[in-house]
Amino acid sequence: MIITKKKDIGKLLDALKEKKSVYLFGCDSCAEQCATGGQKELDEMARILKDNGIEVLGSSLPEETCYRQLILKEYRTQEGLKKADAVLVLACGAGVRTVADVAEEEQPVLPALDSLFLATVERVGRFFEGCSLCGECVLIETGGICPHTECPKGLLNGPCGGVVDGMCEVNIDNECAWVRIYNRLKKQDRLHLMKKISAPKDHSVGMRPRKILLREPARKADRKK
Ligand code: SF4
Ligand code: SF4
Repeated sequence: MIITKKKDIGKLLDALKEKKSVYLFGCDSCAEQCATGGQKELDEMARILKDNGIEVLGSSLPEETCYRQLILKEYRTQEGLKKADAVLVLACGAGVRTVADVAEEEQPVLPALDSLFLATVERVGRFFEGCSLCGECVLIETGGICPHTECPKGLLNGPCGGVVDGMCEVNIDNECAWVRIYNRLKKQDRLHLMKKISAPKDHSVGMRPRKILLREPARKADRKK
């Protein structure tokens, strides 16, 4: 799940200074769970904009705002959407990007949220970063704990010298990632993996922008709004 937080409302109003009308998008997936882009947040944003003299021409809450086909449908069916001076998107950056790709280039599409990280959801409202999508997973050798993400220094060959009583010297409230890896590998009788020297991370495998094409690209005519 992608974790987001609300942008400062003052900055948003500043970005919308010249705009008379706005259309809102939320996202009924990640942003809804983060309490940043569900129906409640859309209603709250509509109220704030109205109080500041900006007309809200409507709002949409797609199941996933990063899914182009769902956004195309909104542009086909929602009258206010094409007319709005700007579109404000309460979703992660991928959602904003998807709406911006579908909108006419003359229509500004603005993010209302900041996108933070990919999370493991412990339970509702408790999100932890466990993977930073590096493109070459090492969990096979680290007991399912990611040193690239959970060690603030991203060390791949065991702990630094700053471990104090098993705790991390950077994030002092966290147990050292490498202590956790050691303990887990020990329980799995796989401690020999601690002796393995890993090569420096090959950052070229995660070079951006990344893409995966599992199907033939849609014909140009199909991609038209
Ligand atoms: S090594 Fe860590 S950051 Fe890379 S894919 Fe695996 S869990 Fe994600
Ligand atoms: S104490 Fe452990 S988790 Fe913290 S920076 Fe050093 S090796 Fe990484």
